[in-house]
Amino acid sequence: MTLLDRFANNRPPVPEPGPELTPEPTAPAAPIGVIGGGQLAWMLNPAAQKLGLPLRVLASHAQDPAVQVVSESFIGDLSDPILIAQLAQDAQAVTFENEFVDLEQLRPLALPFYPSLDSLAPLLDKYTQRQHLQQHGLPVPRFHNLTSLDADLDKLNDLGWPLVLKARRQGYDGRGTEIVQNPEQLARVWQGWGQVPALVEQFVPFAAELAVMVSRSRSGEIAVHPVVETQQENQVCHRVIAPARVPAEIQQAVETIARDFVLSIDGVGIFGIELFWVPTWNAVLVNEVAPRPHNSGHFSIEACVTSQFEQHLRAVAGLPLGDPALQVPVAVMVNLLGYESAQHDYVTERQQLSQLPGAHVHWYGKSEARPGRKLGHVTLLGDDLDQVLALADRADLIWRRQA
Ligand code: ADP
Repeated sequence: MTLLDRFANNRPPVPEPGPELTPEPTAPAAPIGVIGGGQLAWMLNPAAQKLGLPLRVLASHAQDPAVQVVSESFIGDLSDPILIAQLAQDAQAVTFENEFVDLEQLRPLALPFYPSLDSLAPLLDKYTQRQHLQQHGLPVPRFHNLTSLDADLDKLNDLGWPLVLKARRQGYDGRGTEIVQNPEQLARVWQGWGQVPALVEQFVPFAAELAVMVSRSRSGEIAVHPVVETQQENQVCHRVIAPARVPAEIQQAVETIARDFVLSIDGVGIFGIELFWVPTWNAVLVNEVAPRPHNSGHFSIEACVTSQFEQHLRAVAGLPLGDPALQVPVAVMVNLLGYESAQHDYVTERQQLSQLPGAHVHWYGKSEARPGRKLGHVTLLGDDLDQVLALADRADLIWRRQA
């Protein structure tokens, strides 16, 4: 390079090439193991790729969504200690896609579980979860452990009818949750469930259901995603609206609950908290907590600077947390729930959905549709809530072939 060239560029001089240096070899990151291979593990995969973390799953079936995309998978019983030990081989963390885990089988394995088994312990049963929340001063609906209808009748009357009957374990998407109007109906429904361990709680006349994702890293850093509004149909989440249409002090109250909760269990990872907003009681009550990414956080993939999936991986891999803030004014997520029993890939509907302005379609690739099964979701982004809600209505019509 001549002197003239340097002045022409107005840049610092380029150093003369020295002896060739071999770049420092960077060791590949150790894998993250996920127990479960459904849509949540499937959505963790792009985030893992972005962070350069190899993802491995233990799935129940070879057809499960995540098995199709991750670099390594094991198929079998999700509580099989041998498979879990294989999943954890050289892994830096083992995490969970759902909370239906058998702690007693996992404890002797002494693996780097995030969240830890002690954090999970109170959360796996709806009754012990409620007790934990109450003992830590978090607001919950009044509840009672059901032992026998006769013995508990005074307590039930005291909670007031109608009541909500909930199976303590294995309930999801409204299965194992039933609103009962009187003792006879309660007896009938509970009998139909084979009198599994259950709790009853007061019926909450909420104005809206809210949700929030809170994460905590291995070093104790906490981040809270925006508070959202969730809308259920037949007790299954149908829509999520971000941000929630609630006053600032309610958002603040939810954020405080989220932080207090994650500290109360010494949690590491991301946690979904579902809440009831009851303005007539001047209250926000926690309904339920899930120790994992959650349906109410799917909007964050496109709508937030850091998605819930990336945040979970950052937390369990000991990385600094990302910024959870919204990067668009409004997002509405619509679940694509099965409405028939069929082996259908709904290509036409998916194409029409993806043509809606601001739409991002996620199709989980499940081989079979069943009523109520989560087959995919679409997130609609925009500047104006009414316009985005009108698009969400349109998405519903397309999905149900009524457009
Ligand atoms: P699941 O674990 O199956 O999601 P939830 O406990 O979240 O069950 O209940 C599903 C839905 O049922 C809630 O989103 C809400 O709409 C309704 N629900 C649950 N508990 C109550 C309650 N105590 N009062 C009023 N509605 C309730």
